Amino acid sequence: ESRVADKWTKTTCGYCSVGCGMLIGTRDGRPVAARGNPEHPVNLGKLCPKGLSEHLIVEAPGRATTPMLRKGGRGTPLEPVSWDEALDAMIARIGALQVRHGNEALGVIGTGQLLTEEFYTLGKLVQLGFRTRNYDGNTTLCMASAVSGYKLSFGSDGPPGAYADLETADVVLLVGSNLADNHPILCNRLRKKPGQVLIVADPRVTKTAMMADLHLPVKPRSDIALLNGIAHILLRDQLVHRDYLRDHVDGLDDFVRFVTEFTPEAVSEVTGLSVETIETVASIYGRAKAAFIGWTMGVNHSTQGAVTVAAINNLALLTGNIGRVGASPFSITGQCNAMGTRESGFASSMPGYRKFDNANDREELASLWDIEESELPSARGLAYPDIIEAAVTGKVKALWIIATNPIVSFPNYNLLKQAFDTAEFVVVQDGFYPTPTMEFADLVLPAAIWGEKEGTYTNSERRISKVNSFATPPGEARSDFDIFMALAEGLGVKDKLFPGWTTTHSAWLEWQKVSAGRLCDYSPFTWQQIEDQGGAQWGGARLYEDGVFPREGGRALLHCVPCLPFVEQPNREFDLILNTGRTVEHWHTRTKTGAVAMLEGMVPNAWLEMNPVDAQRLSLRQHDPVTIRSRRASITQVELRVTEIVAPGQVFMPFHFAEQNSNLVTLGAFDPISREPNFKQCAVRVERS
Ligand code: SF4
Repeated sequence: ESRVADKWTKTTCGYCSVGCGMLIGTRDGRPVAARGNPEHPVNLGKLCPKGLSEHLIVEAPGRATTPMLRKGGRGTPLEPVSWDEALDAMIARIGALQVRHGNEALGVIGTGQLLTEEFYTLGKLVQLGFRTRNYDGNTTLCMASAVSGYKLSFGSDGPPGAYADLETADVVLLVGSNLADNHPILCNRLRKKPGQVLIVADPRVTKTAMMADLHLPVKPRSDIALLNGIAHILLRDQLVHRDYLRDHVDGLDDFVRFVTEFTPEAVSEVTGLSVETIETVASIYGRAKAAFIGWTMGVNHSTQGAVTVAAINNLALLTGNIGRVGASPFSITGQCNAMGTRESGFASSMPGYRKFDNANDREELASLWDIEESELPSARGLAYPDIIEAAVTGKVKALWIIATNPIVSFPNYNLLKQAFDTAEFVVVQDGFYPTPTMEFADLVLPAAIWGEKEGTYTNSERRISKVNSFATPPGEARSDFDIFMALAEGLGVKDKLFPGWTTTHSAWLEWQKVSAGRLCDYSPFTWQQIEDQGGAQWGGARLYEDGVFPREGGRALLHCVPCLPFVEQPNREFDLILNTGRTVEHWHTRTKTGAVAMLEGMVPNAWLEMNPVDAQRLSLRQHDPVTIRSRRASITQVELRVTEIVAPGQVFMPFHFAEQNSNLVTLGAFDPISREPNFKQCAVRVERS
């Protein structure tokens, strides 16, 4: 009886990019329940375990409640200080470093956990307040390859399709995407259409692969060969949409020549699939009236991530499977606000997908902001991995890390640690204390989290959804927006950059004006409409319905994508290929889900999956504690799970765990276009601990 809610607050889930609508029940102001919102079009009342327990997070242990400063310098403890002292110290220390080493001595890493309104505000503050271009989001660790791939093919970022396409497609092809663990509620939308064929390409027999009509257990990083091989057959068998190609697509002649060599026999050799299987997949995809290709981190987490996305887009363009019901190439994004950060921020483009190197875009934004065009950069600053490298080499002297935990989530821990050790001033702003990254912080700023602030998130299908507060931040924690406003005040730019702003709604109103008329146009919607309707998709249900693309000339482009071997091939010393991934119970580095007893109790430790053939060869048994070694480091005491889910020669480990951190061993290799890390495919050996 004491747990019956006396109030229900509508909001949107703060974990993954599915963007489920939910109702949080409170009693006497304290959260007691979470339910799926039965009227929300994304999830129709359903929630996964993370969503069902999300109300518990605001009262979870380990919240950051007061600013903390290492008053005595490195090697001394963090001590509680007032907000004034904390922000004065931050502005003074960063300012002094910028005076000595230039404005770009500051590197800022944001996050897809912020509200769109906060991200928009932060971009403006960093560019025009702190005056550094070296600013990126942790979204570069997950979706940067999708962004770059869309730009290569269509001229702009923006997922073209909608979740509804999962229900209306005749064929759904998922590449490197384990929806069942990572976007569980979307699985409910698969196989609704009678006769729909689900094909899953994944080296591992994931839960999603188990749902498939056809699982394609491709060898690691052979997806490009498979995609080019399908294109080869589509062209050979006249399964392409000639009219669509003529009217809307460039590059066909070069592409036809390029894919000639990707015969089914050659592709079979690279992928490990039979010729018959490759022919079957191409035929099913090519003959479908409406075909959907979805992908996630199996594609993005690669040194060839951006071009793999372009190779996926190639198939959609060849067959005209874009801009129609059930027909789309579609990136299923990672974080709750992965899209909002891409659209409104200052990472790979300027707010409203404006390009740094486009004078018209710069002039337009400068005019909207009432500043000189020269105050805007004409090229982007350093991307996330390059900020880290610049900290190692001493070019970046100060780091400001916001609501992300790179010590667990960034590859090649040793390099990252060097960056934090070398940087002269590190600020970590987070809702929890301590986090593994705070070990390296000179200053900790305690922030409010989901449930304690109001604004919007935008999900994978471009749906802007309302996020509401039902709790107050603990202790002295402040919302990220309030922290940004206080810093703007301290820098003396509040009145110029944020005149009269008091809440995130001020940022929303300005962002609406800045996005008006752009592809990602937020101007038609009010907060109230968004809340009442269960969100609204910018750009409508689907982009490019008219076949006009935001490239010069309005046409999309086919790309010739070579299939290169991955960076670190196994050898005699490091004989296994490690893949990393996730599990449904946890979110990223467990800062939040590790604090929810129900979720942590279900999955308290990491594990390593290994095929029985390898286990026998290495004389290892089920549940043995094992050590995983790469050329960089080792992880010990990891529980072995002997299972045919992984193929011989491959092992798999979830990345969530600081205590058994898979990113101790992963490789610091990055996509040259998107700068996304190659979290998959590093060479390791495994032995009993
Ligand atoms: Fe939240 Fe994603 Fe689970 Fe939906 S599927 S409840 S958005 S974590």
